[in-house]
Amino acid sequence: MPIAITSEPGARPAEGDIPLCVPAFAGQEWAYVKECLDSGWVSSAGPFVERFERAAAALVGVRHAVATASGTAALHLALLVAGVGPDDEVLVPTLTFIAPANAVRYLGAHPVFVDVEPEHWQLDPDKVEDFLLRECTALGGALWNRRTGRRVAAILPVHLLGHPCDLDRLVALARRFGLALVEDATESLGARWGGQPVGAHGPVGCLSFNGNKVITTGGGGMLLTNDAAFAERARYLSTQAKDDPIEYVHGAIGYNYRLTNLQAALGCAQLEQLPGFLTRKRWIARAYQQRLADVPGLSFLHEAARARSACWMTTVLVDAARFGRDRRALLAYLAERRIQTRPLWQPLHRSPAHRGAQAYRIEVADRLWRDALSLPSSAGLTDDDLQRVVTALRSAAR
Ligand SMILES: *Cc1c(COP(=O)(O)O)cnc(C)c1O
Repeated sequence: MPIAITSEPGARPAEGDIPLCVPAFAGQEWAYVKECLDSGWVSSAGPFVERFERAAAALVGVRHAVATASGTAALHLALLVAGVGPDDEVLVPTLTFIAPANAVRYLGAHPVFVDVEPEHWQLDPDKVEDFLLRECTALGGALWNRRTGRRVAAILPVHLLGHPCDLDRLVALARRFGLALVEDATESLGARWGGQPVGAHGPVGCLSFNGNKVITTGGGGMLLTNDAAFAERARYLSTQAKDDPIEYVHGAIGYNYRLTNLQAALGCAQLEQLPGFLTRKRWIARAYQQRLADVPGLSFLHEAARARSACWMTTVLVDAARFGRDRRALLAYLAERRIQTRPLWQPLHRSPAHRGAQAYRIEVADRLWRDALSLPSSAGLTDDDLQRVVTALRSAAR
């Protein structure tokens, strides 16, 4: 009988289970959390919040960081400060976790779903360019989607599974067409494009510290920017837009989106361990690829020449005809052996939640969704457990 390995990030797996992606707390976590409890600073003010923001900003190479309650909250604020408003449109890859598309909808704006490319599985810059050139018209200092009559305001590349999008192309396209580039780097902390960390290539970038991400605060996120006004506005809106330090006077409709000091304490401890996590995750990705290279019907995404992936989750493509099982059957086979894997996200142009959104030339994402399976990729995955996964995958082939 297949075991019920929990899909909740951060839950402790049972003895003998190999979980998909769980956090490692091997640093100063206990010490920093204890400092919060001893000092009484547990909530949305306290020294760790600022320290975490400064450390994250330095790491990514931006001037300002605003900690938020989640990556989704960071995306919501990022789009807002970047100038996306009601009835605007934002180009979003169809293959992604749903959060960025939802954040677009929170603003009353609309996602236009664009395909990913087959080599690196990221937002396809050729299709973005085709859409902007062929489907849109520049008029009165703005770009308009001829089919919907709406203004196109931003491009929202999502660096999927730890691998960066082609930021040379996307940054150039955003500039050429006068669009905001909002980077969703929530799966890719530590990844680089052309040597520069992701999250710092456009006016605003976003991180997530959910339980299964590269580092975790339990739950949390971060908005990254070089623009002091953007940072100030995001901070203001994230704290209920309170205008006066003492009096309860609010200048706008704000949100309760702050990260707590307790969470930030975890974040500071985790960030200190990031180099080690990245080294291990890259090793895991390479080990899977090397040890499975000769198995017919299994393939991996290729790292782009200009990219350095964070290797958040190593994901394999299963060609059912050549491998002898499809990815659903493989998931069940591995679950019976207490190995947790998971499929990619249903492409959003098929999502009931985003019914009616425009989709532009989707040709690749559906195949990746059908065939992709993410393999155990925790930074704490032992050599023995990795080999157990490899052996199970080899034995599943027929
Ligand atoms: C995890 C994730 C987010 C944000 O996640 P939160 O759980 O809100 O922190 C956003 N976009 C993508 C692509 C993600 O994978």
